[in-house]
Amino acid sequence: MLELQGIPVSPGVAIASALVLDADGYRIPRCIVPAADVDDEFARLREAVDVVSEQLEQSRLETTATAGRQTGDIFAAQLQMLHDPRLHSELEKRIGEERQSAAFAVSGVLHNYASALQKLENPFLADRAQDVLDIERQLLTQLGAVTRQPLQDLNEPVIVLSRMLTPSETAGLNREFVKGFCTEIGGPGGHTAIVAKGLEIPAVVGIGEFLPVIAGADCVIVDGDRGRLIIDPTEEVLEHYRQRAEYRRSLAQRLAQQSQLPATTTDGTRISLNANIEFPHETAACLQRGADGIGLYRTEFLYLSSDEEPSEEDHYQAYAEVIEQMNGRPVVIRTLDLGADKMGHGKRSQEENNPFLGLRSIRLSLRNLDLFRPQLRAVLRAAALGDVRVMFPLITTIAELRQARMLLNVVAEDLKEAGIPFRSDLPVGMMVEVPAAVIMLDHFACEVDFFSIGTNDLAQYTLAVDRSNESVADLYQSSDPAVLRLIQASIDVADQTQTPISVCGEMSSNPARALLLLGMGVRNLSVPPSALPRVKKAIRNVSIEQCEAIAERVRKLESARDVDLYLLDRLADLAPELVMQ
Ligand code: PEP
Ligand code: MG
Repeated sequence: MLELQGIPVSPGVAIASALVLDADGYRIPRCIVPAADVDDEFARLREAVDVVSEQLEQSRLETTATAGRQTGDIFAAQLQMLHDPRLHSELEKRIGEERQSAAFAVSGVLHNYASALQKLENPFLADRAQDVLDIERQLLTQLGAVTRQPLQDLNEPVIVLSRMLTPSETAGLNREFVKGFCTEIGGPGGHTAIVAKGLEIPAVVGIGEFLPVIAGADCVIVDGDRGRLIIDPTEEVLEHYRQRAEYRRSLAQRLAQQSQLPATTTDGTRISLNANIEFPHETAACLQRGADGIGLYRTEFLYLSSDEEPSEEDHYQAYAEVIEQMNGRPVVIRTLDLGADKMGHGKRSQEENNPFLGLRSIRLSLRNLDLFRPQLRAVLRAAALGDVRVMFPLITTIAELRQARMLLNVVAEDLKEAGIPFRSDLPVGMMVEVPAAVIMLDHFACEVDFFSIGTNDLAQYTLAVDRSNESVADLYQSSDPAVLRLIQASIDVADQTQTPISVCGEMSSNPARALLLLGMGVRNLSVPPSALPRVKKAIRNVSIEQCEAIAERVRKLESARDVDLYLLDRLADLAPELVMQ
Protein backbone atom coordinates (compact mmCIF):
# COMPACT_ATOMS: atom_id res chain seq x y z
CA MET A 1 0.00 0.00 0.00
CA LEU A 2 1.21 3.50 -0.79
CA GLU A 3 -0.43 6.63 0.61
CA LEU A 4 0.27 9.99 -1.03
CA GLN A 5 -0.78 13.45 0.05
CA GLY A 6 -1.91 16.18 -2.33
CA ILE A 7 -4.29 19.13 -2.44
CA PRO A 8 -7.97 18.25 -2.04
CA VAL A 9 -9.88 20.21 -4.67
CA SER A 10 -13.18 18.40 -4.90
CA PRO A 11 -14.68 16.45 -1.95
CA GLY A 12 -15.88 12.86 -1.77
CA VAL A 13 -14.42 9.35 -1.74
CA ALA A 14 -13.95 7.17 -4.82
CA ILE A 15 -12.62 3.62 -5.13
CA ALA A 16 -11.86 1.96 -8.48
CA SER A 17 -9.08 0.61 -10.65
CA ALA A 18 -6.50 3.05 -11.99
CA LEU A 19 -6.46 4.41 -15.50
CA VAL A 20 -2.99 5.88 -15.95
CA LEU A 21 -2.57 8.53 -18.63
CA ASP A 22 0.68 9.53 -20.29
CA ALA A 23 3.15 8.59 -17.59
CA ASP A 24 5.97 9.86 -19.79
CA GLY A 25 4.25 12.78 -21.43
CA TYR A 26 4.90 12.97 -25.17
CA ARG A 27 7.67 14.27 -27.36
CA ILE A 28 7.36 15.32 -30.97
CA PRO A 29 10.49 14.48 -32.98
CA ARG A 30 12.29 17.31 -34.75
CA CYS A 31 11.04 17.16 -38.31
CA ILE A 32 12.08 19.42 -41.20
CA VAL A 33 10.01 19.00 -44.37
CA PRO A 34 11.13 19.45 -48.01
CA ALA A 35 10.36 22.92 -49.45
CA ALA A 36 7.76 21.34 -51.74
CA ASP A 37 5.75 20.13 -48.71
CA VAL A 38 5.53 23.44 -46.87
CA ASP A 39 2.13 24.31 -48.37
CA ASP A 40 0.79 20.92 -47.32
CA GLU A 41 1.94 21.54 -43.77
CA PHE A 42 0.15 24.91 -43.77
CA ALA A 43 -3.02 23.22 -45.00
CA ARG A 44 -2.73 20.53 -42.32
CA LEU A 45 -2.29 23.20 -39.65
CA ARG A 46 -5.31 25.19 -40.88
CA GLU A 47 -7.44 22.09 -40.88
CA ALA A 48 -6.31 21.14 -37.36
CA VAL A 49 -7.05 24.66 -36.09
CA ASP A 50 -10.54 24.51 -37.61
CA VAL A 51 -11.33 21.14 -36.02
CA VAL A 52 -9.97 22.14 -32.60
CA SER A 53 -11.89 25.39 -32.85
CA GLU A 54 -15.12 23.46 -33.39
CA GLN A 55 -14.29 21.09 -30.53
CA LEU A 56 -13.63 23.97 -28.15
CA GLU A 57 -16.89 25.63 -29.11
CA GLN A 58 -18.65 22.33 -28.50
CA SER A 59 -16.96 22.00 -25.07
CA ARG A 60 -17.98 25.58 -24.29
CA LEU A 61 -21.63 24.89 -25.09
CA GLU A 62 -21.76 21.56 -23.26
CA THR A 63 -19.91 22.81 -20.18
CA THR A 64 -22.05 25.92 -20.00
CA ALA A 65 -25.10 23.68 -19.99
CA THR A 66 -23.80 21.29 -17.30
CA ALA A 67 -21.62 23.53 -15.09
CA GLY A 68 -22.69 27.10 -15.90
CA ARG A 69 -21.51 29.94 -18.10
CA GLN A 70 -18.55 30.82 -15.89
CA THR A 71 -17.02 27.38 -16.33
CA GLY A 72 -17.95 27.28 -20.00
CA ASP A 73 -16.03 30.53 -20.48
CA ILE A 74 -12.80 28.65 -19.83
CA PHE A 75 -13.19 27.28 -23.35
CA ALA A 76 -14.04 30.69 -24.76
CA ALA A 77 -10.66 31.85 -23.41
CA GLN A 78 -8.94 28.85 -25.00
CA LEU A 79 -10.60 29.68 -28.31
CA GLN A 80 -9.20 33.17 -28.04
CA MET A 81 -5.70 31.78 -27.40
CA LEU A 82 -6.05 29.43 -30.37
CA HIS A 83 -6.77 32.36 -32.67
CA ASP A 84 -4.14 34.67 -31.22
CA PRO A 85 -2.44 36.40 -34.21
CA ARG A 86 0.98 36.28 -32.49
CA LEU A 87 0.70 32.54 -32.16
CA HIS A 88 -0.10 32.19 -35.85
CA SER A 89 2.70 34.44 -37.01
CA GLU A 90 5.20 32.37 -34.99
CA LEU A 91 3.80 29.15 -36.42
CA GLU A 92 3.95 30.56 -39.96
CA LYS A 93 7.55 31.60 -39.43
CA ARG A 94 8.59 28.15 -38.23
CA ILE A 95 6.76 26.30 -40.99
CA GLY A 96 7.37 28.80 -43.83
CA GLU A 97 10.93 29.93 -43.10
CA GLU A 98 12.37 27.11 -41.04
CA ARG A 99 10.42 24.35 -42.83
CA GLN A 100 9.37 22.68 -39.61
CA SER A 101 6.54 20.15 -39.78
CA ALA A 102 3.22 21.54 -38.52
CA ALA A 103 3.36 19.21 -35.47
CA PHE A 104 6.92 20.16 -34.57
CA ALA A 105 6.11 23.87 -34.91
CA VAL A 106 2.95 23.58 -32.78
CA SER A 107 4.79 21.66 -30.10
CA GLY A 108 7.72 24.11 -30.05
CA VAL A 109 5.70 27.34 -29.98
CA LEU A 110 3.06 26.25 -27.48
CA HIS A 111 5.55 24.57 -25.18
CA ASN A 112 7.58 27.78 -25.12
CA TYR A 113 4.45 29.77 -24.26
CA ALA A 114 3.55 27.38 -21.46
CA SER A 115 7.00 27.31 -19.89
CA ALA A 116 7.25 31.13 -20.07
CA LEU A 117 4.00 31.30 -18.07
CA GLN A 118 5.19 28.66 -15.60
CA LYS A 119 8.47 30.50 -15.00
CA LEU A 120 6.65 33.64 -13.84
CA GLU A 121 6.10 31.89 -10.48
CA ASN A 122 2.62 33.27 -10.36
CA PRO A 123 0.16 30.50 -9.45
CA PHE A 124 -2.60 32.13 -11.50
CA LEU A 125 -0.47 32.26 -14.66
CA ALA A 126 1.00 28.80 -13.99
CA ASP A 127 -2.55 27.49 -14.08
CA ARG A 128 -3.10 29.25 -17.41
CA ALA A 129 -0.09 27.32 -18.76
CA GLN A 130 -2.26 24.23 -18.54
CA ASP A 131 -4.71 25.84 -20.94
CA VAL A 132 -1.90 26.38 -23.45
CA LEU A 133 -0.80 22.73 -23.13
CA ASP A 134 -4.42 21.70 -23.56
CA ILE A 135 -4.56 23.48 -26.92
CA GLU A 136 -1.20 22.00 -27.92
CA ARG A 137 -2.39 18.48 -27.20
CA GLN A 138 -5.59 18.97 -29.15
CA LEU A 139 -3.76 20.35 -32.18
CA LEU A 140 -1.20 17.53 -32.07
CA THR A 141 -3.98 14.97 -31.84
CA GLN A 142 -5.57 16.43 -34.97
CA LEU A 143 -2.20 16.43 -36.71
CA GLY A 144 -1.89 12.72 -35.89
CA ALA A 145 1.24 13.30 -33.78
CA VAL A 146 -0.17 11.99 -30.50
CA THR A 147 -2.88 9.46 -29.99
CA ARG A 148 -5.53 10.26 -27.48
CA GLN A 149 -5.96 8.02 -24.49
CA PRO A 150 -9.13 5.93 -24.60
CA LEU A 151 -10.97 8.16 -22.13
CA GLN A 152 -14.18 8.05 -24.12
CA ASP A 153 -14.31 4.29 -24.59
CA LEU A 154 -14.67 3.29 -20.97
CA ASN A 155 -16.91 0.47 -19.85
CA GLU A 156 -15.94 0.05 -16.18
CA PRO A 157 -15.40 2.44 -13.25
CA VAL A 158 -11.93 4.01 -13.15
CA ILE A 159 -9.92 6.62 -11.31
CA VAL A 160 -7.89 8.67 -13.73
CA LEU A 161 -4.27 9.22 -12.71
CA SER A 162 -2.32 11.64 -14.81
CA ARG A 163 0.59 14.05 -14.78
CA MET A 164 -2.04 16.68 -15.42
CA LEU A 165 -5.56 16.87 -16.68
CA THR A 166 -6.50 19.79 -18.84
CA PRO A 167 -9.77 21.67 -18.30
CA SER A 168 -11.24 20.27 -21.51
CA GLU A 169 -10.27 16.72 -20.57
CA THR A 170 -11.85 17.21 -17.16
CA ALA A 171 -15.04 18.62 -18.63
CA GLY A 172 -15.15 15.73 -21.08
CA LEU A 173 -14.73 13.01 -18.44
CA ASN A 174 -17.35 10.35 -18.71
CA ARG A 175 -19.14 10.81 -15.38
CA GLU A 176 -20.64 7.36 -15.56
CA PHE A 177 -17.28 5.60 -15.38
CA VAL A 178 -14.73 8.16 -14.15
CA LYS A 179 -15.22 8.14 -10.39
CA GLY A 180 -12.38 10.46 -9.46
CA PHE A 181 -8.97 11.74 -10.54
CA CYS A 182 -5.55 12.64 -9.19
CA THR A 183 -2.78 14.60 -10.87
CA GLU A 184 0.89 15.19 -10.18
CA ILE A 185 0.74 18.90 -10.86
CA GLY A 186 -1.94 21.59 -10.54
CA GLY A 187 -3.13 23.96 -7.87
CA PRO A 188 -6.41 24.61 -6.13
CA GLY A 189 -7.10 27.72 -8.24
CA GLY A 190 -6.63 26.02 -11.61
CA HIS A 191 -9.44 25.60 -14.11
CA THR A 192 -9.17 21.84 -13.77
CA ALA A 193 -9.98 22.15 -10.06
CA ILE A 194 -12.85 24.52 -10.79
CA VAL A 195 -14.37 22.18 -13.36
CA ALA A 196 -13.97 19.16 -11.03
CA LYS A 197 -15.77 20.94 -8.22
CA GLY A 198 -18.49 22.13 -10.57
CA LEU A 199 -19.06 18.54 -11.70
CA GLU A 200 -18.66 17.17 -8.14
CA ILE A 201 -15.98 14.58 -9.09
CA PRO A 202 -13.72 13.73 -6.09
CA ALA A 203 -10.26 15.03 -6.99
CA VAL A 204 -6.78 15.59 -5.60
CA VAL A 205 -4.13 17.61 -7.46
CA GLY A 206 -0.51 18.66 -6.90
CA ILE A 207 0.60 15.31 -5.45
CA GLY A 208 4.08 15.50 -7.00
CA GLU A 209 5.63 12.76 -9.10
CA PHE A 210 3.96 9.41 -8.46
CA LEU A 211 3.09 7.89 -11.84
CA PRO A 212 6.35 5.92 -12.26
CA VAL A 213 5.62 3.88 -9.13
CA ILE A 214 2.05 2.89 -9.81
CA ALA A 215 2.02 1.14 -13.16
CA GLY A 216 -0.78 -1.37 -13.13
CA ALA A 217 -2.42 -0.52 -9.79
CA ASP A 218 -5.62 -2.56 -9.62
CA CYS A 219 -7.22 -0.56 -6.89
CA VAL A 220 -6.82 3.06 -5.85
CA ILE A 221 -8.73 5.29 -3.46
CA VAL A 222 -9.19 9.04 -3.91
CA ASP A 223 -10.01 10.80 -0.68
CA GLY A 224 -11.10 14.20 -1.92
CA ASP A 225 -11.95 15.32 1.62
CA ARG A 226 -8.45 14.91 2.98
CA GLY A 227 -6.39 15.18 -0.23
CA ARG A 228 -5.15 11.57 -0.21
CA LEU A 229 -4.42 9.06 -2.93
CA ILE A 230 -4.07 5.49 -1.68
CA ILE A 231 -2.61 2.94 -4.07
CA ASP A 232 -3.16 -0.81 -3.59
CA PRO A 233 -4.77 -0.39 -0.16
CA THR A 234 -4.66 -3.17 2.41
CA GLU A 235 -7.93 -5.01 2.90
CA GLU A 236 -8.41 -3.16 6.18
CA VAL A 237 -7.97 0.31 4.64
CA LEU A 238 -10.13 -0.65 1.70
CA GLU A 239 -12.88 -1.79 4.02
CA HIS A 240 -12.62 1.45 5.99
CA TYR A 241 -13.03 3.54 2.83
CA ARG A 242 -15.81 1.32 1.48
CA GLN A 243 -17.70 1.95 4.67
CA ARG A 244 -16.98 5.66 4.49
CA ALA A 245 -18.17 5.86 0.90
CA GLU A 246 -21.28 3.87 1.71
CA TYR A 247 -21.95 5.92 4.79
CA ARG A 248 -21.60 9.16 2.80
CA ARG A 249 -24.00 7.86 0.17
CA SER A 250 -26.71 6.75 2.56
CA LEU A 251 -26.35 9.84 4.76
CA ALA A 252 -26.59 12.09 1.69
CA GLN A 253 -29.76 10.25 0.62
CA ARG A 254 -31.36 10.59 4.05
CA LEU A 255 -30.39 14.25 4.36
CA ALA A 256 -31.64 15.01 0.86
CA GLN A 257 -35.13 14.03 2.03
CA GLN A 258 -34.96 16.81 4.60
CA SER A 259 -33.54 19.43 2.26
CA GLN A 260 -36.73 21.46 1.96
CA LEU A 261 -37.50 21.44 5.69
CA PRO A 262 -36.72 24.67 7.53
CA ALA A 263 -33.54 25.01 9.61
CA THR A 264 -35.44 25.13 12.89
CA THR A 265 -34.15 23.98 16.27
CA THR A 266 -36.23 21.60 18.41
CA ASP A 267 -37.55 24.58 20.44
CA GLY A 268 -38.81 26.25 17.27
CA THR A 269 -36.08 28.86 16.70
CA ARG A 270 -35.74 29.50 12.98
CA ILE A 271 -32.12 29.75 11.84
CA SER A 272 -31.44 31.40 8.51
CA LEU A 273 -29.21 28.93 6.65
CA ASN A 274 -27.64 30.41 3.55
CA ALA A 275 -25.01 29.38 1.03
CA ASN A 276 -21.60 30.71 -0.01
CA ILE A 277 -21.02 30.63 -3.76
CA GLU A 278 -18.25 31.52 -6.15
CA PHE A 279 -20.09 30.93 -9.45
CA PRO A 280 -23.66 31.55 -10.62
CA HIS A 281 -24.25 27.93 -11.63
CA GLU A 282 -23.92 26.90 -7.97
CA THR A 283 -27.34 28.40 -7.22
CA ALA A 284 -28.95 25.23 -8.60
CA ALA A 285 -27.27 23.09 -5.90
CA CYS A 286 -28.13 25.72 -3.27
CA LEU A 287 -31.83 25.54 -4.13
CA GLN A 288 -31.82 21.78 -4.37
CA ARG A 289 -30.23 21.61 -0.92
CA GLY A 290 -32.71 24.06 0.54
CA ALA A 291 -30.65 27.23 1.11
CA ASP A 292 -32.63 30.20 2.45
CA GLY A 293 -30.55 32.54 0.33
CA ILE A 294 -27.01 33.37 -0.76
CA GLY A 295 -25.14 34.65 2.29
CA LEU A 296 -21.85 35.26 0.49
CA TYR A 297 -21.29 35.60 -3.23
CA ARG A 298 -17.50 35.78 -3.73
CA THR A 299 -17.52 37.91 -6.86
CA GLU A 300 -13.75 37.92 -7.31
CA PHE A 301 -14.05 34.49 -8.96
CA LEU A 302 -15.50 36.27 -11.95
CA TYR A 303 -11.98 37.67 -12.38
CA LEU A 304 -10.05 34.60 -11.36
CA SER A 305 -11.71 32.31 -13.86
CA SER A 306 -11.32 34.57 -16.84
CA ASP A 307 -8.30 35.81 -18.76
CA GLU A 308 -9.95 39.17 -19.33
CA GLU A 309 -11.04 41.68 -16.77
CA PRO A 310 -14.84 41.43 -16.61
CA SER A 311 -16.86 44.38 -17.85
CA GLU A 312 -19.81 45.98 -16.05
CA GLU A 313 -22.04 43.88 -18.28
CA ASP A 314 -20.23 40.65 -17.33
CA HIS A 315 -20.79 41.52 -13.67
CA TYR A 316 -24.42 42.38 -14.29
CA GLN A 317 -25.15 39.18 -16.22
CA ALA A 318 -23.58 37.01 -13.50
CA TYR A 319 -25.49 38.75 -10.71
CA ALA A 320 -28.75 38.71 -12.66
CA GLU A 321 -28.39 34.96 -13.16
CA VAL A 322 -27.96 34.37 -9.42
CA ILE A 323 -30.75 36.75 -8.39
CA GLU A 324 -33.25 35.35 -10.88
CA GLN A 325 -32.46 31.77 -9.89
CA MET A 326 -32.85 32.60 -6.21
CA ASN A 327 -36.31 33.94 -7.01
CA GLY A 328 -36.88 36.49 -4.23
CA ARG A 329 -34.54 34.91 -1.67
CA PRO A 330 -31.84 37.23 -0.29
CA VAL A 331 -28.53 37.45 -2.14
CA VAL A 332 -25.51 39.08 -0.47
CA ILE A 333 -23.05 40.24 -3.10
CA ARG A 334 -19.61 40.75 -1.65
CA THR A 335 -17.53 43.23 -3.60
CA LEU A 336 -14.16 42.14 -4.95
CA ASP A 337 -11.81 40.48 -2.49
CA LEU A 338 -8.78 40.32 -4.78
CA GLY A 339 -5.13 40.29 -3.77
CA ALA A 340 -3.03 38.08 -1.47
CA ASP A 341 -3.79 34.48 -2.49
CA LYS A 342 -6.43 35.62 -4.98
CA MET A 343 -4.30 37.25 -7.64
CA GLY A 344 -5.96 39.55 -10.09
CA HIS A 345 -4.92 40.38 -13.61
CA GLY A 346 -1.31 41.28 -14.32
CA LYS A 347 -1.70 45.03 -14.15
CA ARG A 348 -3.49 44.81 -10.79
CA SER A 349 -1.02 42.57 -9.03
CA GLN A 350 2.25 43.69 -7.54
CA GLU A 351 5.07 42.07 -5.59
CA GLU A 352 4.52 42.47 -1.87
CA ASN A 353 6.51 41.14 1.08
CA ASN A 354 3.40 40.43 3.13
CA PRO A 355 0.50 40.18 0.68
CA PHE A 356 -2.07 39.26 3.34
CA LEU A 357 -1.16 42.49 5.12
CA GLY A 358 -0.89 44.40 1.88
CA LEU A 359 -3.00 45.85 -0.87
CA ARG A 360 -5.82 43.33 -0.86
CA SER A 361 -9.60 43.32 -0.84
CA ILE A 362 -11.38 46.63 -0.20
CA ARG A 363 -8.00 48.40 -0.10
CA LEU A 364 -7.24 47.27 -3.63
CA SER A 365 -10.74 48.17 -4.84
CA LEU A 366 -10.54 51.67 -3.37
CA ARG A 367 -7.17 52.26 -5.08
CA ASN A 368 -8.44 51.01 -8.43
CA LEU A 369 -11.66 52.85 -9.09
CA ASP A 370 -11.69 51.79 -12.75
CA LEU A 371 -11.99 48.27 -11.34
CA PHE A 372 -14.42 49.03 -8.53
CA ARG A 373 -16.88 51.40 -10.24
CA PRO A 374 -18.10 48.94 -12.92
CA GLN A 375 -18.74 46.40 -10.20
CA LEU A 376 -20.74 48.83 -8.06
CA ARG A 377 -22.76 49.97 -11.09
CA ALA A 378 -23.57 46.34 -11.88
CA VAL A 379 -24.56 45.63 -8.25
CA LEU A 380 -26.92 48.63 -8.14
CA ARG A 381 -28.48 47.70 -11.47
CA ALA A 382 -28.90 44.06 -10.49
CA ALA A 383 -30.37 45.09 -7.13
CA ALA A 384 -33.52 46.12 -9.02
CA LEU A 385 -34.08 42.43 -9.84
CA GLY A 386 -34.54 41.02 -6.32
CA ASP A 387 -33.59 41.04 -2.65
CA VAL A 388 -29.96 42.11 -3.06
CA ARG A 389 -27.59 43.30 -0.37
CA VAL A 390 -24.03 44.50 -0.87
CA MET A 391 -21.15 43.76 1.47
CA PHE A 392 -17.63 45.18 1.68
CA PRO A 393 -14.77 42.82 2.63
CA LEU A 394 -11.82 43.36 4.99
CA ILE A 395 -13.06 46.65 6.38
CA THR A 396 -10.50 47.80 8.96
CA THR A 397 -11.17 51.51 9.47
CA ILE A 398 -14.24 53.70 9.48
CA ALA A 399 -12.66 55.82 6.74
CA GLU A 400 -12.58 52.81 4.38
CA LEU A 401 -16.21 52.05 4.99
CA ARG A 402 -17.22 55.68 4.40
CA GLN A 403 -15.17 55.85 1.21
CA ALA A 404 -16.78 52.68 -0.12
CA ARG A 405 -20.28 53.92 0.76
CA MET A 406 -19.56 57.30 -0.78
CA LEU A 407 -18.45 55.68 -4.01
CA LEU A 408 -21.63 53.61 -4.04
CA ASN A 409 -23.62 56.87 -3.76
CA VAL A 410 -21.63 58.55 -6.52
CA VAL A 411 -22.18 55.60 -8.81
CA ALA A 412 -25.91 55.67 -8.01
CA GLU A 413 -26.00 59.36 -8.99
CA ASP A 414 -24.29 58.55 -12.30
CA LEU A 415 -26.87 55.85 -13.05
CA LYS A 416 -29.69 58.20 -12.15
CA GLU A 417 -28.39 60.92 -14.45
CA ALA A 418 -28.01 58.42 -17.26
CA GLY A 419 -31.58 57.20 -16.71
CA ILE A 420 -30.42 53.60 -16.14
CA PRO A 421 -32.74 51.57 -13.88
CA PHE A 422 -31.23 50.60 -10.52
CA ARG A 423 -32.04 50.35 -6.83
CA SER A 424 -30.17 52.63 -4.44
CA ASP A 425 -31.73 51.73 -1.07
CA LEU A 426 -30.23 48.27 -0.88
CA PRO A 427 -28.85 47.19 2.52
CA VAL A 428 -25.10 47.78 2.89
CA GLY A 429 -23.05 45.52 5.14
CA MET A 430 -19.46 44.81 6.03
CA MET A 431 -17.44 41.73 6.77
CA VAL A 432 -16.02 41.51 10.26
CA GLU A 433 -12.70 39.78 9.66
CA VAL A 434 -10.05 42.03 11.17
CA PRO A 435 -9.61 42.37 14.97
CA ALA A 436 -9.52 46.20 14.59
CA ALA A 437 -13.05 46.09 13.20
CA VAL A 438 -14.26 43.97 16.12
CA ILE A 439 -12.75 46.42 18.59
CA MET A 440 -14.47 49.38 16.88
CA LEU A 441 -17.66 47.53 15.99
CA ASP A 442 -20.01 49.80 17.97
CA HIS A 443 -18.91 52.67 15.71
CA PHE A 444 -19.34 50.61 12.57
CA ALA A 445 -22.83 49.61 13.72
CA CYS A 446 -23.99 53.22 13.21
CA GLU A 447 -22.98 53.08 9.55
CA VAL A 448 -23.99 49.65 8.24
CA ASP A 449 -27.20 47.64 7.90
CA PHE A 450 -25.62 44.26 8.72
CA PHE A 451 -22.44 42.46 9.70
CA SER A 452 -21.06 39.13 8.52
CA ILE A 453 -18.20 37.53 10.41
CA GLY A 454 -15.50 36.10 8.15
CA THR A 455 -13.90 33.59 10.47
CA ASN A 456 -11.30 32.54 7.89
CA ASP A 457 -9.60 35.90 7.94
CA LEU A 458 -10.52 36.71 11.53
CA ALA A 459 -8.56 33.61 12.66
CA GLN A 460 -5.66 34.52 10.37
CA TYR A 461 -5.35 38.07 11.68
CA THR A 462 -6.04 37.24 15.33
CA LEU A 463 -3.57 34.38 15.53
CA ALA A 464 -0.94 35.94 13.23
CA VAL A 465 -0.99 32.84 11.05
CA ASP A 466 -1.02 32.83 7.25
CA ARG A 467 -4.11 30.86 6.25
CA SER A 468 -2.44 29.45 3.13
CA ASN A 469 0.90 28.39 4.68
CA GLU A 470 1.01 24.65 5.35
CA SER A 471 3.95 25.06 7.80
CA VAL A 472 1.76 26.82 10.37
CA ALA A 473 -1.50 25.07 9.51
CA ASP A 474 -1.73 23.57 13.02
CA LEU A 475 -2.00 27.08 14.49
CA TYR A 476 -4.79 28.11 12.16
CA GLN A 477 -7.93 27.31 14.16
CA SER A 478 -11.15 29.28 14.16
CA SER A 479 -12.06 27.51 17.39
CA ASP A 480 -9.11 29.07 19.20
CA PRO A 481 -10.47 30.72 22.38
CA ALA A 482 -9.00 34.09 21.34
CA VAL A 483 -10.94 33.98 18.07
CA LEU A 484 -14.06 32.85 19.92
CA ARG A 485 -13.84 35.85 22.25
CA LEU A 486 -13.71 38.21 19.28
CA ILE A 487 -16.69 36.47 17.71
CA GLN A 488 -18.60 36.76 20.98
CA ALA A 489 -17.68 40.45 21.27
CA SER A 490 -19.03 41.04 17.76
CA ILE A 491 -22.29 39.21 18.51
CA ASP A 492 -22.73 41.24 21.70
CA VAL A 493 -22.30 44.56 19.86
CA ALA A 494 -24.69 43.40 17.14
CA ASP A 495 -27.23 42.57 19.85
CA GLN A 496 -26.86 45.86 21.66
CA THR A 497 -27.13 47.89 18.46
CA GLN A 498 -29.76 45.62 16.89
CA THR A 499 -27.62 45.10 13.83
CA PRO A 500 -28.24 41.77 12.04
CA ILE A 501 -25.15 39.55 12.11
CA SER A 502 -24.23 36.31 10.35
CA VAL A 503 -21.19 34.05 10.17
CA CYS A 504 -20.01 33.16 6.66
CA GLY A 505 -16.49 31.81 7.30
CA GLU A 506 -15.73 28.10 6.97
CA MET A 507 -16.22 27.69 10.72
CA SER A 508 -19.98 27.60 10.28
CA SER A 509 -19.77 24.72 7.79
CA ASN A 510 -18.53 22.41 10.54
CA PRO A 511 -21.74 21.15 12.23
CA ALA A 512 -20.15 21.00 15.71
CA ARG A 513 -18.79 24.53 15.45
CA ALA A 514 -22.12 25.70 14.01
CA LEU A 515 -23.86 24.55 17.22
CA LEU A 516 -21.35 26.54 19.25
CA LEU A 517 -22.15 29.63 17.14
CA LEU A 518 -25.88 29.17 17.82
CA GLY A 519 -25.09 28.98 21.53
CA MET A 520 -23.12 32.21 21.24
CA GLY A 521 -26.19 33.95 19.81
CA VAL A 522 -25.83 33.64 16.02
CA ARG A 523 -29.09 33.01 14.12
CA ASN A 524 -27.81 33.36 10.56
CA LEU A 525 -25.17 31.10 9.02
CA SER A 526 -23.76 30.88 5.52
CA VAL A 527 -21.94 27.73 4.39
CA PRO A 528 -20.66 26.15 1.16
CA PRO A 529 -23.50 24.38 -0.75
CA SER A 530 -22.03 20.94 0.00
CA ALA A 531 -22.25 21.63 3.77
CA LEU A 532 -25.94 22.68 3.78
CA PRO A 533 -27.47 19.23 4.48
CA ARG A 534 -25.19 18.39 7.40
CA VAL A 535 -25.44 21.79 9.07
CA LYS A 536 -29.22 21.77 8.69
CA LYS A 537 -29.38 18.32 10.24
CA ALA A 538 -27.32 19.49 13.25
CA ILE A 539 -29.59 22.52 13.71
CA ARG A 540 -32.77 20.45 13.53
CA ASN A 541 -31.45 18.05 16.17
CA VAL A 542 -30.77 20.56 18.97
CA SER A 543 -32.43 23.17 21.14
CA ILE A 544 -31.02 26.64 21.70
CA GLU A 545 -30.74 25.78 25.38
CA GLN A 546 -28.45 22.86 24.56
CA CYS A 547 -26.35 25.12 22.32
CA GLU A 548 -26.12 27.76 25.05
CA ALA A 549 -24.88 25.12 27.48
CA ILE A 550 -22.20 24.20 24.90
CA ALA A 551 -21.11 27.84 24.59
CA GLU A 552 -21.06 28.22 28.38
CA ARG A 553 -18.71 25.27 28.76
CA VAL A 554 -16.49 26.33 25.84
CA ARG A 555 -15.91 29.76 27.45
CA LYS A 556 -13.92 28.01 30.15
CA LEU A 557 -11.61 26.11 27.77
CA GLU A 558 -8.11 27.28 26.95
CA SER A 559 -7.13 25.77 23.60
CA ALA A 560 -8.62 25.07 20.17
CA ARG A 561 -7.90 21.38 20.68
CA ASP A 562 -9.91 21.26 23.90
CA VAL A 563 -12.74 23.16 22.23
CA ASP A 564 -12.86 20.86 19.20
CA LEU A 565 -12.66 17.65 21.24
CA TYR A 566 -15.50 18.85 23.45
CA LEU A 567 -17.58 19.96 20.45
CA LEU A 568 -17.10 16.64 18.68
CA ASP A 569 -18.18 14.86 21.81
CA ARG A 570 -21.35 16.94 22.03
CA LEU A 571 -22.12 16.45 18.34
CA ALA A 572 -21.75 12.69 18.80
CA ASP A 573 -24.44 12.93 21.50
CA LEU A 574 -26.78 15.36 19.78
CA ALA A 575 -26.48 14.35 16.12
CA PRO A 576 -24.65 10.98 16.10
CA GLU A 577 -25.39 10.39 12.41
CA LEU A 578 -23.08 13.26 11.49
CA VAL A 579 -20.04 11.88 13.24
CA MET A 580 -18.27 9.75 10.65
CA GLN A 581 -15.62 7.20 11.51
C1 PEP B 1 -13.60 34.80 5.56
O1 PEP B 1 -12.53 35.42 5.58
O2 PEP B 1 -14.02 34.12 6.52
C2 PEP B 1 -14.44 34.82 4.35
C3 PEP B 1 -15.65 34.31 4.34
O3 PEP B 1 -13.92 35.36 3.23
P1 PEP B 1 -12.80 34.64 2.31
O4 PEP B 1 -12.65 33.23 2.77
O5 PEP B 1 -13.31 34.75 0.93
O6 PEP B 1 -11.59 35.48 2.59
MG1 MG C 1 -12.12 36.91 4.09
